Amino acid sequence: MTGEDLRAQESLTVTAVRHHRHRAPLLRPFVTAARRTEAVEYVVAEIELHRGAIGQGSAAETVAVTGESAETITAALAGPLRSALEGATGTLGELTRRIGAALEGASSARAAADVALHDAWAKSVGTPLVELLGGRLEDGLMNDMTISLEDPDVMAEHARTAVAGGEQILKIKLGHDIAEDRRRLAAVVEAAPEARLRLDANQGWSPEQAIEIITGFERDGLPIDLVEQPVAARNIEGLARVAAAVELPIMADEAVWTTEDARRLVDADACDLLNIKLAKTGGLRGALEIADIAREAGMECMVGAMMEPRISITAAAHLAIAHPAITMIDLDPPAWFTSAAPRGGFVQDGAWLRLCGGPGLGLELLPADVDPAPDAAPPIGDGGDR
Ligand SMILES: [Mg+2]
Repeated sequence: MTGEDLRAQESLTVTAVRHHRHRAPLLRPFVTAARRTEAVEYVVAEIELHRGAIGQGSAAETVAVTGESAETITAALAGPLRSALEGATGTLGELTRRIGAALEGASSARAAADVALHDAWAKSVGTPLVELLGGRLEDGLMNDMTISLEDPDVMAEHARTAVAGGEQILKIKLGHDIAEDRRRLAAVVEAAPEARLRLDANQGWSPEQAIEIITGFERDGLPIDLVEQPVAARNIEGLARVAAAVELPIMADEAVWTTEDARRLVDADACDLLNIKLAKTGGLRGALEIADIAREAGMECMVGAMMEPRISITAAAHLAIAHPAITMIDLDPPAWFTSAAPRGGFVQDGAWLRLCGGPGLGLELLPADVDPAPDAAPPIGDGGDR
C-alpha cells in the first residue's frame, strides 16, 4: 500500500457543510450551439473537518448542460448533501460514496461537495491534492482557448487576439450550419494560421453532415487535432459511424458522464478520446475511474469544464495533472471572468497551466458575503467549453 493509500484510510469527521452563492459577470458573452452566457451564477460548497481544515468546491449554473440552476444546486447542498455529510465519520472513500448516494442527478452539486471534501482532506494532510492523487505538482499541461460560436469575422478577431496573447491551441465552437461552419473555420485559420485547432460541434451535426464536413477539413489539410461531440449524445451508433469514416480523432463529451457511459463508448468503438468534466462525473472519484477505463483501453482523455469559476477549474487542473491518461486540458473559463478570486490554485504561463502548490487545491478561501470584484486589469482572452 502506498503512502497516499494510507492517508486515504484515515478516519475523517465532517463537522460542517456550508454554501454561499455568487454571480460573476463575463468579459464577453460565451456562445455555443447549446447556449449563450453573459454572467455565471455559482454556488461555493465549504466542508469543515474535525481538525479544522476547511475545503471548498464550486458548481456553476448550467441549465442547458447539466439541468442544474443555482437554486437546485443550493437546494442539493443545503438538503441531501448536508444531511449525508454533516456529523458523518469515515474514510475519504466512504465519505465520497455518501455524496454519490445522497441524491440522483445533481452532478454539479455533488462535484462541489466532493471537491470541497478532497480539498479539506488534502489540507488536513498538509499536501497538494495532485500529489495525493498520484501526480506531480511540477507537471504542467498546455491549455487551450475557446472561440465562441459567432459570425466568421468575430471568431477570426477573437482567434487573432488569443494567439497574440500567447495561446497555441484554439478550441473552435461550431455546430449550427455546415456551410456557415466552413466559413467560420476558414476565417479562423486565416486569422491564426499557426494555431492548432480543436473543433467542438456540441452535438450540432447529423452523422452524415459530420462525415461530410470533417472529411472536407481533412482534404484541405487544416491543422485540426480533434473533433469533439459532432453528433447527438444519445446517438452512440452515429458517433461510431463518424469515428470509423474519418481520420481525425473523435472525442466524446456530452456522451460521457459516468463510468457506464465510458465503458459503452469503448465497447462500441464509438470514439478515440474522452472529455472528462467534474460537473458531469459528480466529482473526482468518477472522473478518475473514467480515466482508468480510458487507460485500460489505450485512450487519452481531456479534462474540460463548464463555464465555471476558478475553484472548479483548479480542482480540474489537479485531476488532469494527476492522471497519466489525461494528456489534454480545456480549462480556459477563468480567462472569461472579470475577477480571478480566490487567489492561488494555478497560474497560466503563456499557453501553459501550472499549479501553485500549497495544501489541498492551494486556493485562498472565497469570502461568503461578497461577490468577487472585477480585477483592475482583467485578463485578456477568449475561452471555455460547455
Ligand atoms: Mg465539448
